[in-house]
Amino acid sequence: MTTTEDPAATLADVRAALDRAMPSHRADLEALVRIPSVSAPGFDPAEVRRAAEAVRDLLARRGLDDARLLEVDGAHPAVYAHWLGAGPDAPTVLLYAHHDVQPPGDVAAWSTPPFDPVERDGRLYGRGAADDKAGIGVHAAAVSAWLDARGALPVNVKVVVEGEEETGSEHLAGLLDAYADLLRADVMVLTDSVNWQVGVPAITYLLRGLVDCEVEVRGLDHALHSGMYGGPVPDPLTGLIKLLAAATDERGAVAIPGLADDVHEPTAEELDRLEALDFSLDGFRADAGLLPGVELGGDPELHPLRRLWMQPNLTVVGLDAPSVAGSSNTLVPSARARLSLRLAPGQDPLRARDLLCAWLRANAPWGLHVTVTPGAAGSPFVADPTGPAFAAAARALEAAYGHPVVYTGVGGTIPFVEPFARAFAADPAHPTPALLTGVEDPDTRAHGIDESLHLEDWRRACLGEAYLFDELARSLGTR
Ligand SMILES: [Zn+2]
Repeated sequence: MTTTEDPAATLADVRAALDRAMPSHRADLEALVRIPSVSAPGFDPAEVRRAAEAVRDLLARRGLDDARLLEVDGAHPAVYAHWLGAGPDAPTVLLYAHHDVQPPGDVAAWSTPPFDPVERDGRLYGRGAADDKAGIGVHAAAVSAWLDARGALPVNVKVVVEGEEETGSEHLAGLLDAYADLLRADVMVLTDSVNWQVGVPAITYLLRGLVDCEVEVRGLDHALHSGMYGGPVPDPLTGLIKLLAAATDERGAVAIPGLADDVHEPTAEELDRLEALDFSLDGFRADAGLLPGVELGGDPELHPLRRLWMQPNLTVVGLDAPSVAGSSNTLVPSARARLSLRLAPGQDPLRARDLLCAWLRANAPWGLHVTVTPGAAGSPFVADPTGPAFAAAARALEAAYGHPVVYTGVGGTIPFVEPFARAFAADPAHPTPALLTGVEDPDTRAHGIDESLHLEDWRRACLGEAYLFDELARSLGTR
């Protein structure tokens, strides 16, 4: 059964409860942003645990039951809580977000300190203000709006808030082994994606995968005077740069032989969906902050969004080399880089990681010694965004935003989606529907300097999820 009723009328009490509570949800979000829960190595893991505990307490305070940490050996803790009062015949919805954040980068480059949330022009600035502490806030606000207005929800909900999404969810297999039964649900809602524009809600049906590794090149056992030895003695840093440069072609596309062989050819529906978007190249360049004259990378025959969503891409995300300030005429004994490889739909992350690592080991110039340390491997994800759960999401978001949804891909990665959607399904050929909704917009600068959340869109996202519970209860109600 589907509804043609207007949720703004039938759920006016839920909406009013949400509106009343938004200032307190905003305060909760700011408190989370103040915890620098960077999950990357080299940052204090106690802060990630502190964020997990704060999220656990927040969910309990907002009326969820059984709020607790989910521990896996060696992993940053995840958080779990549920509300199962809708009964066994109502659908169960798994709500996902993550409480860890990316490193702040160059703190001095931020307009205001990254872990000190501040509002400017309707946006809340701070690391994690959008990605993805805003997603935690959406789940808490949507659940508590129902509990405040009606003392109950029309669906059962389970909330899982992961603690190492930003480092590639390295211990996902452990989380899946230990907790798949606890987390089992009929539909997943992952509020960690991006809307098409401010005010234009998107459902993300496609995500790239992600593989990373570190590569170290060594040529000497100690540093040397570059004048006394340079020439016959090769420079390991130049060797590393040559190796990295050879991994991509002249257009910047991945050039590792065989790596793109398993990229899935987009279906006609996927290409139609892509063409249906009102894509503006100028808008894209402006959102990216691309300087005049700088060319787009990848195959110019392909739509830029196809290059962004449906092609692999390699980025050098870290480089250990002497800094320019204070550098001297020295041959360094070794140099190190961290590489991040985004994977297109169809690609097997373990195969891609093996190919990347083997290629790096085999291709350093001049007999330099190479050590490659493989990192995380997350699967790409593609859904067919049809069926009752997707239709419910489209109705709920349209009602909340006052604008129809658009269906988009995202070049980023949420490693959780694909394995859990498969694990919950009775038939692996029909994964559990995963609804990826947005708290970001094209100007959010997630992972970058001056990350921010559009506060009015955040309120709409909270309202959309509150409406979604009702739509899912109606469309999936009789199982
Ligand atoms: Zn995220």
